[in-house]
Amino acid sequence: MTQIVVIGGGNAGLTAALSARENGAEVVLLEAAEEAHYGSDSFFSGGLFRVAYDRFGDLEAIVDDLSIAGEGLDDFAQYEEADFLDDWGRVTGYRLDLEIAEHVVAESFETLKWLHETGGVPFISPIIVDEHGRARHSRPGWHGGFVEVSGAGVGLTTSLQKAVAAAGVETRFGREAVGLARRPELGGWTVTARTRGGGEEVLEADAVIVTSGGFQADTEWRTRDLGVGWDLAKVRGSVHNTGNGLRMLLDHGAKAVGNWSGCHAVAWSTGSGDAGRPDANHVFERESHPFGISVNSLGERFLDEGEDFGAYTYAKYGKVILTQPGQVAWQIFDAKTVGLWTDEYRYKNPEAARMQADTLPALAAKLEPRGLAATDRFLKTVDDYNSAVDDSIEFNPYVKDGKHTNGLTPEKTNWSQAITEPPFYAFEVTCGITFTFGGIKVDTGGRVLDRTNRPIEDLYAAGELVGGLYYFNYASGTGLTAGAVLGRAAGRIAAAS
Ligand SMILES: Cc1cc2nc3c(=O)[nH]c(=O)nc-3n(C[C@H](O)[C@H](O)[C@H](O)COP(=O)(O)OP(=O)(O)OC[C@H]3O[C@@H](n4cnc5c(N)ncnc54)[C@H](O)[C@@H]3O)c2cc1C
Repeated sequence: MTQIVVIGGGNAGLTAALSARENGAEVVLLEAAEEAHYGSDSFFSGGLFRVAYDRFGDLEAIVDDLSIAGEGLDDFAQYEEADFLDDWGRVTGYRLDLEIAEHVVAESFETLKWLHETGGVPFISPIIVDEHGRARHSRPGWHGGFVEVSGAGVGLTTSLQKAVAAAGVETRFGREAVGLARRPELGGWTVTARTRGGGEEVLEADAVIVTSGGFQADTEWRTRDLGVGWDLAKVRGSVHNTGNGLRMLLDHGAKAVGNWSGCHAVAWSTGSGDAGRPDANHVFERESHPFGISVNSLGERFLDEGEDFGAYTYAKYGKVILTQPGQVAWQIFDAKTVGLWTDEYRYKNPEAARMQADTLPALAAKLEPRGLAATDRFLKTVDDYNSAVDDSIEFNPYVKDGKHTNGLTPEKTNWSQAITEPPFYAFEVTCGITFTFGGIKVDTGGRVLDRTNRPIEDLYAAGELVGGLYYFNYASGTGLTAGAVLGRAAGRIAAAS
């Protein structure tokens, strides 16, 4: 029986392990975290998967309950493969690895069906009916085809961990893979893992699948590759994703590809505390910027909050916040937008770095001790913004409404409404890094390729450490989908090796 070692137990690793086992291999999964402190990025995630479908009703094969009716449901009637690919390509400047992206898109539906049926993942539809009787995504202003996991990332990883255990995968927690050596005559690999307390464990494998994430949790590497200031970003997810798996693959000749100076980084509440805690997960995300304005400590706006649907800007705005003085900004809203905030703002952790006041000067007074250095400028910025809103266009949160400002730098190009209705709110945000974009090249079977694009024998990879999928920006929900598609393929092909 083929012996497979999977390194890293997040979405990609669990999927790969399940698939390899299903295809007859004996599988050991090494996970750096202790079981009691397990916290992969997948665990911390929102559990949102992007998926292509021809008819909304087709999603019945993936989600448990699709009974929903409401005006606007037609907006979700289909999300074809071409739409998925266009959205992904557009936000990455069409630099993405098209072969892999096409494969991920084409396999997205079948893979999620398999995750549901074989992995027991409890998918639900994110489409809800809002207080106006209108069908919309549970994240207002979100765009694209999605399913999400009941219980978010915790629901995802818990169900996959159960499924791999039931299938007979042996998971060893508290094992950080630190060495990978080719077996000269036998083929395959020897994997060395460090155990807690400094011990070492050596495993023999016919094939190895590396799914240990990017290098975002290594402050030094992150700063070296992403640049000045990135040492100051908050890491949103796993403390173990320090790139050591990536390093091992590079050392064995894997081809480095993708946007090594780029990463996924969001507006992240300054109230989040340190990363790596089970409660420090996606609930600190602050992605409702399209419905307000963002202001820095000099009292100035610094980005077009309404450039695109939040789904296509949230992952690049963290970087812009990092370049503001003190790496801090405030998202400013008034009362009429409260219903448009994502759940994270309203009730998941409502106290985190949130200020509220009945007048704008009173709100500014609350920001001063937190670093607002130019109150007059702040008030003028809000005033100028309010006067610049084009009132001839109707506000519509369900589409890119083109309701813009006139004469500002930068302009706000959609969803501009004057901030006039008390109470007023300020959410304090900094830059939260999610994962790095640079990685290694794989083919559609998850085989790791060398610098001449030939497979390195018996070596596979999936998940965050695959390069070439994202440049500058990211389309929400593609990380989990890409990890599952390539993880499943890698498991199947490695099992047959
Ligand atoms: C807060 C947050 C919210 C997110 N929300 C979404 C979302 O809703 N939808 C979406 O598509 N994407 C989302 N993402 C991104 C998504 O989570 C990642 O793209 C995806 O989970 C990566 O999966 P992975 O298996 O590659 O990595 P991970 O899930 O991070 O798994 C890697 C595992 O490898 C382990 N490891 C590291 N080094 C070693 C080693 N040397 N030996 C053994 N084990 C090791 C780590 O402990 C970790 O458990 C989110 C990310 C975060 C942080």
